[in-house]
Amino acid sequence: METGNNVVKLVRDVVTRIGGSDSTDNKLCQQAHQWDRFAVNIPGTVFQLLERPDGFSSLPYISPSIFELYGLTAEQLREDASPLLSRIHPDDVEPFMASLRMARENLSAWHHQFRMVLPHNRACWRLGWAQPERLDDGSVLWHGYVQPLAERIISNEQFWRGANIDALTGLPNRGQFLSILAQNVRQAQQANTRVTLFLLDLDHFKDINEAQGYAVGDTLLFHVARRLQSCISDIVSLSRLGGDEFAMLLNGMADLSDVKAKVGDALSAFSHPFFCHGGEIHVSVSIGIAFFPDDAANSESMLRFAERAMYAAKQDGRNCYRFFMPAMQERTQKKMALAKELRRALVDYPFTLLYQPIVDLASGEVNKLEALIRWQHPERGSISPADFIPIAEETGMIGDISNWVFHTAVQDIAYWRASLNPKLRVGINLSPVLFRSGDKFIQSWVEHLSQMDLPGEALIAEITEGLLLNNSNSVIKRLDALREAGIMVAMDDFGTGYSSLSYLKKFDIGCIKIDRAFIQNLSSGSSDMALCEAIIVMAHKLGLSVIAEGVETEARRCLLAAAGCDYGQGYLFSEPRTALQVDNWVMHSYKHSELAVGLSSNEH
Ligand code: C2E
Ligand code: CA
Ligand code: CA
Repeated sequence: METGNNVVKLVRDVVTRIGGSDSTDNKLCQQAHQWDRFAVNIPGTVFQLLERPDGFSSLPYISPSIFELYGLTAEQLREDASPLLSRIHPDDVEPFMASLRMARENLSAWHHQFRMVLPHNRACWRLGWAQPERLDDGSVLWHGYVQPLAERIISNEQFWRGANIDALTGLPNRGQFLSILAQNVRQAQQANTRVTLFLLDLDHFKDINEAQGYAVGDTLLFHVARRLQSCISDIVSLSRLGGDEFAMLLNGMADLSDVKAKVGDALSAFSHPFFCHGGEIHVSVSIGIAFFPDDAANSESMLRFAERAMYAAKQDGRNCYRFFMPAMQERTQKKMALAKELRRALVDYPFTLLYQPIVDLASGEVNKLEALIRWQHPERGSISPADFIPIAEETGMIGDISNWVFHTAVQDIAYWRASLNPKLRVGINLSPVLFRSGDKFIQSWVEHLSQMDLPGEALIAEITEGLLLNNSNSVIKRLDALREAGIMVAMDDFGTGYSSLSYLKKFDIGCIKIDRAFIQNLSSGSSDMALCEAIIVMAHKLGLSVIAEGVETEARRCLLAAAGCDYGQGYLFSEPRTALQVDNWVMHSYKHSELAVGLSSNEH
């Protein structure tokens, strides 16, 4: 593998030295003889493949040895690569194209094993490496190298393994899996049978890597591979596609109940811990399932659909499986369209920040608000953060959006503290993705607060439990930085995650917000009531204050107040309102509130 990558690097270096990758003029042709001198020293075929946006491919350069092999001259191929591409073995065309597509999409190194058909119909294995480069006109220029494989197999089996086998787990890698899948699909097509694909992705693997180090992560992946192999029968193939993603092909799954039994086996393979480097690791898995021919017409869409189903399993809380459904595909397309529009929205920020009051249940005073973002879409109207924040998180736009929220909230709270109530605080929701991205945002926020002459206590950072799960050092340091700046950290949606009170103590959380799922059906003597009471008592023992979310009725407000809950937030008091409405609401409806007290004290 190393050898191939080195040759590709060499090809690129030579390109740069001989005259760059300017594909538009004849320079490359004139430089061909210089290239040839370089290529004769290499035991294989060196090439540059140019793919134009209109789908047309040419080979601006290919070693002269191509004539000996295929009876095609470099001149013939310079304008049109198709005579050579049509020599790829028919069985290998699909995985070959799929592997190119994947490397092209990510502009990542390509290495792939495939067969070429030589004159006299003799098939011969080839191993190719290439590095794609996107040119200004949208074309993709590949710098590459292809080597005959048969000789290498005989002389060095390791070499073949390197290209097809994942070194960590000993399983087939992504490239090899694509070939296996395509082959199974072809066979199923001929035999009129079904192929079942399970796509498995470990839950929160990144956290494990971050918290315990990559060596532990690698050992875990190794054990996961072994356990999957030993726990599940009838596996045609188990492959590691990369990272923490595994793919499993299954045989004889004519019946849905068979499939469900198998996926049950796969999930329960994770029900007991893995032993890695002397410690126990608990990890679960999310599984997406797709069938050929029921769901997908070819191997490529089958893999894509299984991926969609796997994401659906993640979204539905992880540690579960989902079958692919056409609606998922539609949803993904809609999501991609929304992501595109969101990127455009980052030009003029058509967002609004609403504020929802948090009411002191004993006094009725309001000295906290939660800031909640909305996206004012020109056609779709107001879009909920639940719909676009996850997209922003996935596409790296969350940093810009969070900065906008912070600056808007700080500006508003500075005004309200000066004009209405000097004690008023605003809570902003901190995305775990932003939190894990680095600590620059905290530094710049703290600086901005001091420039505005605002104390940190004007701000409350609402975080969720998942962030603390693997108590990584960097997360702890960032939480410390917030607290050092005087910013209180509140645990949002408490009760829906791990609900660990020991975390709360360890991380010095100042306040918890009981999730509205527990409040929504609250009634005297109910189990939710018992849970709320227990949470409130324990939180108070740990010195934390408690906010109940989603308080919609007077009866529930009374129950919560009687249980000693400190604050309530919900439609009973007010829906989220615009900054302007907050001013009016303070002046007209809640004269008795702390905000109003602040207002009247300013009037004196
Ligand atoms: P959250 O932090 O749990 O916010 C509370 C959600 O409950 C808000 O939904 C609020 O409008 C809603 N809510 C408040 N009172 C009631 C009630 O009495 N009944 C019911 N049924 N719902 C109530 P919203 O504004 O749609 O926000 C949804 C989620 O989006 C938030 O959940 C938060 O996780 C996220 N979010 C909102 N703004 C931001 C933001 O600026 N940044 C980030 N990262 N996330 C945000
Ligand atoms: Ca919140
Ligand atoms: Ca919440």
